[in-house]
Amino acid sequence: MSFGQWRRLIPLCLAGMRYMTVRKLFNFIRCEMECFWRMEKLESRPYSAIIEPTNICNLQCPYCPTGAGRDSGRKKTMIDVSLVESFIEQNAPYLISVNFYNWGEPLLHPKIHEIVRICHDHKVFTSLSTNLNIRNLDILDKVCRAGLDHMVVSCSGATQDVYEIYHRDAKMDTLLAGLKYLKEYKKRNQAKVPIVELHYILFKHNLHQLDAASDLAREYGVTAFRVMDGTGPEEAAIGKRDDPKYILADVNHCHQLWHLVVLNADGGITPCYYLYYKTDDFGDFSVSDMSQLRNDRSYLMARQLFSPKSAGNLPPDLSHPCLKCEKVHNQKHLLEYLKKNENATQAHRTGGP
Ligand code: SF4
Repeated sequence: MSFGQWRRLIPLCLAGMRYMTVRKLFNFIRCEMECFWRMEKLESRPYSAIIEPTNICNLQCPYCPTGAGRDSGRKKTMIDVSLVESFIEQNAPYLISVNFYNWGEPLLHPKIHEIVRICHDHKVFTSLSTNLNIRNLDILDKVCRAGLDHMVVSCSGATQDVYEIYHRDAKMDTLLAGLKYLKEYKKRNQAKVPIVELHYILFKHNLHQLDAASDLAREYGVTAFRVMDGTGPEEAAIGKRDDPKYILADVNHCHQLWHLVVLNADGGITPCYYLYYKTDDFGDFSVSDMSQLRNDRSYLMARQLFSPKSAGNLPPDLSHPCLKCEKVHNQKHLLEYLKKNENATQAHRTGGP
């Protein structure tokens, strides 16, 4: 079963504190206050970012839109390293953490180590989420040496036959070789990072291997083993869709519109990791800068949806990606507005189960 939930927090906090500055702390407090007061036009900058190295994946997990082959309207690409450089130069003085994942496998980017290095050198905490089905251990070595702080590895079985039911095309041997490499790398270099977590994606079909997977995680020296409920159709998922724990963490507010920014592999900017389609982008980082994008119309309109005092100013026929989101549909002050706006149909933001 799960272990290391708390034990992981100490090294994570210590690693994160290494990068904290007075300016970041001041920006964090300012951002939290602006979020608390649901302000629309912001003075603060995002203190957390997701950079998507690539939207290509090597596996075909059926309930992931990328794995299922759902067309997002974006070209399949690797992010341009110079775009990352420019993004980090603009945002690093405020950023506490950068996560490398969104809708693709980050370790497929041939220069992922350079991307990690850029963030690390700008004193930002780095985290990467991977399926670790990468035969090229050299890239893993380079990423570790670039200063990666945290790595999340996803898996869904303890034996090949069960693992490949969800992680289609994945090989258990490759995953274990990667975990072994990480264990040995840390031992060889007496390194505290990357802190490695194994996330077990739980479905009905792999429930019986939970203990065996937890034992494997201990054997391979991971810091924490966590059980994550897989999303999927009713016949596959353990939980029910209307169970409160399956609804987005804070259903009454969207913190992400204030504290987070997502840089997609094609340069598109989205406010959160739920928005998958190109048409839902809030802007394009390759043609604008962050200070401009942060208070652009898409952002202002989205924050306005969460502000009871400004909701009366919303255009009656507003068309906006956030109008699909259950967080917006949970805003009591919008009930009448949403009934009248034909664009406000609640739907899954990735089009998936
Ligand atoms: S889609 Fe939902 S979670 Fe994402 S920014 Fe809009 S309101 Fe927030």
